[in-house]
Amino acid sequence: LQRLSKRREEKGPAPRTARAFRELPGQRDMELIREAAGALGLENPFFRPHEGIAGATTRIGNREVVNFGSYNYLGLNGDRRVLAAAHAAIERYGVSASASRMVSGERPVHAALEEALAAHYGVDAALALVSGHATNVTVLGHLMGPRDLILHDAAIHNSCAEGARLSGARRIAFAHNDWRAAEKELAAARRGARRALIVIEGHYSMDGDIPELPRFVEMARRHDAWLMVDEAHGMGVVGATGRGIHEHWGVDAKDVDIWMGTLSKTLSGCGGYIAGNADLIAWLKHSAPGFVYSVGMAPALAAAALESLRILHAEPERVARLQANASMFLRLAKEAGLDTGTSNGLAIVPVIVGSSVGAARLSQALFDRGVNVQPILYPAVPDSSARLRFFLSCEHSEAQLRGTIAAVRSAMAGAQPAEIDG
Ligand code: PMP
Repeated sequence: LQRLSKRREEKGPAPRTARAFRELPGQRDMELIREAAGALGLENPFFRPHEGIAGATTRIGNREVVNFGSYNYLGLNGDRRVLAAAHAAIERYGVSASASRMVSGERPVHAALEEALAAHYGVDAALALVSGHATNVTVLGHLMGPRDLILHDAAIHNSCAEGARLSGARRIAFAHNDWRAAEKELAAARRGARRALIVIEGHYSMDGDIPELPRFVEMARRHDAWLMVDEAHGMGVVGATGRGIHEHWGVDAKDVDIWMGTLSKTLSGCGGYIAGNADLIAWLKHSAPGFVYSVGMAPALAAAALESLRILHAEPERVARLQANASMFLRLAKEAGLDTGTSNGLAIVPVIVGSSVGAARLSQALFDRGVNVQPILYPAVPDSSARLRFFLSCEHSEAQLRGTIAAVRSAMAGAQPAEIDG
């Protein structure tokens, strides 16, 4: 694909006008992928509508399939108590906050959610924003400036990369999870910068692996830098009771300067949050553009996240089931000879296929066998690491996990599809 695309770029027609949307970057790649998929007889695996609540199973096109495509890690999206909390908030406040919180959009449920998030980490305060992606963009973009340094893991999420770009700070990416390389870079670049910020994730969404948090905490202190951890996939997943990467390593959450997370995964809402020091939160609350100039979070989503957080704390057995499921799935995948990369088997298990066409084919073959799992293709990843990404849930049954691995084996062997038992 990469070769084909390059050849096409080379001989493609010169833009007739600077106003042609078809000449925008990436348009040709998209066209090419569509053409290639059509020629191979593959359906588009993206934008498939799900017709109900996507949990361990989901309904797509009138078929109930086993689902590995959602971040509903603890099965709380659909939990009656979470739905009831959201319904009650709608009845009380309506559907929208109808204004920025700074002016008329503040509702009691916003502060209640923020207090619960701050208590979760044992830090001073928290702030909830309308989107996880927007949280990283606005907070990084606002906090750091052109005289500063942002050092980040090479596998960091797009939202952090975009925020770092917006800030105008010097940006250095270090090799994935390589804290030694990170420290070398920091030592070399720290002097020239006013402020420095290290950005890592608590649980990496592409590979399903985790960083050595204590090393990053020490390094941040040694070099007078802030440490920010994006816990989008860590909350409810990592640590014995799902409190996150700090629980896993026995690190005091106060030793991380900036906790970031989203409400759209374990917490079954939609939005992002920052938790940490009171001065930081007050400053963001009064000046971060993505907070001040954006509508307040929909009250029902704040209520859903608050109830989900309560259930996460009250029912740690959900976390134990999720982790048991993921580690069993990882073991079964390895036994089947699949390349699962560096996954720790906490909730995310990639199966690296090695080409975009191969990954798209395998995803389709699994869909034909009653399994929904999304392929990650070039240009999202290099073609050689194109993969399927399995998101586990505490609600998957052992039969579903075993059936899925058997389906992967049979699809790879090119056998005729037979639906697995959902
Ligand atoms: N950070 C990470 C690590 C993510 O994986 C994501 C989204 N998957 C986000 C931030 C953005 O969160 P949201 O989808 O809730 O906007």
